[in-house]
Amino acid sequence: MRKYIFITGGVCSSLGKGIAAASLGALLESRGLKIRMIKIDPYINVDAGTMSPYQHGEVFVTDDGAETDLDLGNYERFTNSPLSQANSITTGQIYQEVIKKEREGRYLGRTVQVIPHITDEIKNRIVSIGEEKDINAIITEIGGTVGDIESFPFLEAARQFVHDFGRKNVLFVHLTLIPEVVGGELKTKPTQHSVKALREIGIQPDILLCRAPHLLDKATRNKISLFTDVDEEAVITAYDVESTIYEIPLVYHKQKLDQIVVDRLEIQTSDAHLDLWQEVVNIHHSAKESVTVGIVGKYVNLNDTYKSIHEALMHGGIANKAGVNIEYIDSEKIEKSGDMDETFRHIDGFLIPGGFGQRGIEGMILAAGYARVKGLPYFGICLGLQIMVIEYARAVLGLKDANSTEFAPEGECPVVSLLSEQMDVKAYGGTMRLGRSESSLKSGTRIYECYNKNSIFERHRHRYEVHNRFRKDLEENGLIISGVTPDYMLVESIEWPDHPWGVGVQFHPEFTSKPIKPHPLFANFIEACLEHSM
Ligand code: GLN
Repeated sequence: MRKYIFITGGVCSSLGKGIAAASLGALLESRGLKIRMIKIDPYINVDAGTMSPYQHGEVFVTDDGAETDLDLGNYERFTNSPLSQANSITTGQIYQEVIKKEREGRYLGRTVQVIPHITDEIKNRIVSIGEEKDINAIITEIGGTVGDIESFPFLEAARQFVHDFGRKNVLFVHLTLIPEVVGGELKTKPTQHSVKALREIGIQPDILLCRAPHLLDKATRNKISLFTDVDEEAVITAYDVESTIYEIPLVYHKQKLDQIVVDRLEIQTSDAHLDLWQEVVNIHHSAKESVTVGIVGKYVNLNDTYKSIHEALMHGGIANKAGVNIEYIDSEKIEKSGDMDETFRHIDGFLIPGGFGQRGIEGMILAAGYARVKGLPYFGICLGLQIMVIEYARAVLGLKDANSTEFAPEGECPVVSLLSEQMDVKAYGGTMRLGRSESSLKSGTRIYECYNKNSIFERHRHRYEVHNRFRKDLEENGLIISGVTPDYMLVESIEWPDHPWGVGVQFHPEFTSKPIKPHPLFANFIEACLEHSM
C-alpha cells in the first residue's frame, strides 16, 4: 500500500516548509524507500512562469520544462524524486482542468462544485503521481498557511485521503512557529491556535515540526502535546541551524522523525544511512579556505530570487572543501557609480545569473568587461552569456551598438536576438524555450574539461539567443564557442580566450546541482575563484 504524507504550515508563511518536506524526503530515501514529492501552490496562476521574482522568488524549471515554485528546487537538491509538471499543482491548473471537463460535458449535467469535483481532481493528481511501480510514499507539501481561504480545497482533499485510504496510510505533519518573546520565553499559543484551525477542518496532525530558536525542553513539548493531542515524542523542534540547511535532515533524524513516520505508517525499512549528509555538514564545518563570490543582478534585495544559484555555489564550495561567502551586487549601482575596482576589490569571482528586461543591463555589461580584462573568474548563466556576447562585440569587435533585441528592439547590431521559433509567440505563459535538451561540447575547451564528455543535457529557459549572423565574426576575433545544439543552430556555451575562467552558458546548470553531487561547472568555477584568492 502506498502511503500519503501531507505537510501543512501554520502561524505564518516562510517557515521553511519546502526544506522540511525535502528533508523528510531525504530521510525516507536514506532508509531505502522510493518516494515522490509534490508541491501544491494555492494561487490561481497556472504556474510560476509568469510571476515576478519580487512576488515569488526564483522560478524553478524541471526537465520537461515546467516553470514551477522554487520548493521543487529544494526537492531536487535533497531527494532523488524525479520532478516534472505533474509534481507542481496550483489552483489555476485544477480549475482549468475541471472547467475543461465541464465544457466537454463530462459531468453529465451535474452541478460542478468544490466538493467533490475540485477535491476529486486534486486527489486524482496526487494519487496518479504514485501510480508508478514500487513507490512507497508520496510527500505532498501544501503551500500557504492553514486558515487561508485559498488552501481550503487542498486541505479538504487531504482530509479525504484518510477516508479513502485509511488512517494507517496517511500522515499529517504540521510545521509551526514557537516565537520567543522579550525575556526569552517561548510561546506555544500560536501553535495551539494553528492546530485548532487544522482540527476544525478535520485534520489531526500526527507530527509537529516546531520552528524555534533552540531545542524545546520536555515541559514545553508536554504542554504542546496536551493542547494538540500530538504525542510528546512527535513534537519535534525544527531549530534554527547555524551553518547549513543540509544539516536539517540530521537534526530531524536525531529527534527520530523518520522512525516515528515509518512506525505510524507501518512501513518496514532498513535504518537510515546518512553518511553522505553527515559528510556534507562535516566539510562545511571544517572548511579552512573560503572565497567570496559576487552575484551581479537586479533582484539583489530578495533572498530567494537566485535560490538555486546560491545553493549551487555552496555545492561548488563543498566540492572544493571550501566555504563560499556570497555577496549580492546591484548592477544598477555599478551602472551609476562605475567604480569597479572598489566594487570587486574583495571579490574572488562573480556570476551573472538569468534575468529579464532592460533594467541594470548596462551595469552587467560593464562588470563583464571588467572581469574579462582583469582576469577575474566570471560565470555567465543564460542572460549572463548574452551579456558576455554583447560586451565582447562592443569592446573587441568594435560594434558600439551591439545589443540584444530584448533591450534595443530596433538596434542596428542585434548580436543577441529572438529565437526564430519565438517570432510569432504572443502569450507569456509557458512559451519560452523550456526544459532539458542536448548540447554538443567542443573537446579541448574549459567546459569540456568540466563535463568530460561531448554530449550533455541541461535545462533551458529563454527566448533570445546569439544571432548566427555574428557567430563567425565573434569566433574570428577570439571568442570560443564551446558548445552548440547538435544541429549547430544555437550557441549553448562560450568562453573568453586567454582568461583564467570566463564561461557563459545559455542553459541553467544550477537547477541540477546537489550538495551530495555538486555540478561540475560550479565546482570548477569555485576552484578558479580559490586560485584567484591566493
Ligand atoms: N531574457 C533572456 C532571454 O529570454 C535571458 C533569460 C534568462 O536569463 N533566463 O533569453
